[in-house]
Amino acid sequence: MTTGIAPATLRADADALLPSMVDVRRRLHRIPEIGLHLPKTQAIVADEVRGLGLEPVLGRSTTSVTAVIEGTGTAGTGDATIVLRGDMDGLPLTEDTGLDFSSEHPGAMHACGHDTHVAMLLGGARLLLDRRDRFAGRVVLMFQPGEEGYHGARFMLEDGLLDGIEGTPGAAAFAIHISTKYPTGTLNVRHGPMLAAADRLLITVRGRGGHASEPSLAVDPIAIAAELILALQLMVTRTVNALDPAVITIARVTAGTTNNIIPPTAELEGTLRTLSEEIRADVKERIRQVAAGIGAAHGADIDVLIDPGYPVTVNDEGFTDLVRGVATDLAGPDAVHEMGTPIMGAEDFAYVLQRVPGAMIFLGARPAGLALEVAPMNHSNLVIFDEAPMALGAATYAAVALEHLAPR
Ligand SMILES: [Zn+2]
Ligand SMILES: [Zn+2]
Repeated sequence: MTTGIAPATLRADADALLPSMVDVRRRLHRIPEIGLHLPKTQAIVADEVRGLGLEPVLGRSTTSVTAVIEGTGTAGTGDATIVLRGDMDGLPLTEDTGLDFSSEHPGAMHACGHDTHVAMLLGGARLLLDRRDRFAGRVVLMFQPGEEGYHGARFMLEDGLLDGIEGTPGAAAFAIHISTKYPTGTLNVRHGPMLAAADRLLITVRGRGGHASEPSLAVDPIAIAAELILALQLMVTRTVNALDPAVITIARVTAGTTNNIIPPTAELEGTLRTLSEEIRADVKERIRQVAAGIGAAHGADIDVLIDPGYPVTVNDEGFTDLVRGVATDLAGPDAVHEMGTPIMGAEDFAYVLQRVPGAMIFLGARPAGLALEVAPMNHSNLVIFDEAPMALGAATYAAVALEHLAPR
C-alpha cells in the first residue's frame, strides 16, 4: 500500500464501530421498503448522515440520499472524486428467518442484505471523516433505492449524481455487495466483467383459435410456442461462441383454458443474460430472427418485446488492482479471492461503472460452519447474513477511498 493508511488501526476503528452499524442495520431490517420510494428508510439514512455532521441531499425523482465528504489534505493530487455506493431497498417476499429483528412489513424483506450495505457505508463514512486530513478531493456517499429491478442508479444519474465528476481526472466509483455465497470475512474480487446484463423477454405468439379436434383449421400457438422455446435454446448453443456466455431462459408459458380449445395466443416470458454489450445486441437480433422465421413457417405472428434491463457490470482493471491491494492489506491474502468466473446475476451499479471507472466486490457473510449447499442464499426467505464482517466492509469502503484519493 502506498499511502500508509495503517490497516491495523483502520480495522480496529472499524471494529469499534460495529455495534452502531449493527444497530442501524437492524433498524433498517425491520422496515424493508421496495422500489424507488423508501420514505422510512430515507428518513433513517438522512438522520444518520446528519449525525455524522454531513448535509444529506435528498433525491428529486426517488428517495435517494447523497452526501459529500471533503478531504482537507493539502499535498498531492488535488481534486479527484470517488463515489461509494450503498443500495437501500428490500425485496417482495415474507421473511421466515425467525430473527428477533425480522421484518415488520408483511411481504417485504431485506433478503439481499442492502440494509448491511447502508450500515457499512455509514461506518466507512465515519472512518473517512476521522481521516479527512489524509486525503484531498472528495467522497460522494451514494445511498440508492430501487436496485432490485427498478433502475435506481439510473435515476440518480439522471438526477445529476455525476455532474461535475464524470470525465474529471481520478473520478471513480466503488461498491460492496454482501453475500452468503462466500465464507464470512472474505473479500471476493474480479477483474473485468463481473455480473451479467439482464434483459426481460416477452413473446406473444398470435395464431388462430379453434376446435382442438381440428387443428388444421386453426393456427395452434401452443405448438408454435413450443417450437420457439427449443429453437431459442438451439440458437444460443449453436450460434453464440461457447466462450461468450449467453443464457436464455423461458420462465413462464401461458396459454389456453381447457382440453378442447385451441387458444388464439400463447405468451412466453423469460430472461436473457449476457456478459458483453456486443453479444447482448447480437443475441437480441437473433431472437427476433428466430421468432420471425418460425412465425412465417407456421402462419403465426410472433411479437417480441425485449425490455432492456441492467447492463453488464464491468470492473476496471487498474482500479480492481487497487481494490485487491487494499483488501489484501486489510484482510490478509487468505481472505481475498479472485472470482474464477462472473456471475449471471445483474446489478444496476453497472450504470455507474459505464460512466466512471471503478469496481464492485462481494463481501462474504455466510455464517461459519454452514456449507454453501445448505446456507440460504441472497433472496431467500431464510437468508441470514453474518453481521461481523460489516466491520471489514466499512474498513474496505474507507481504505479504497483513502488509497484512491490520498496524496502520493
Ligand atoms: Zn438482490
Ligand atoms: Zn443486492
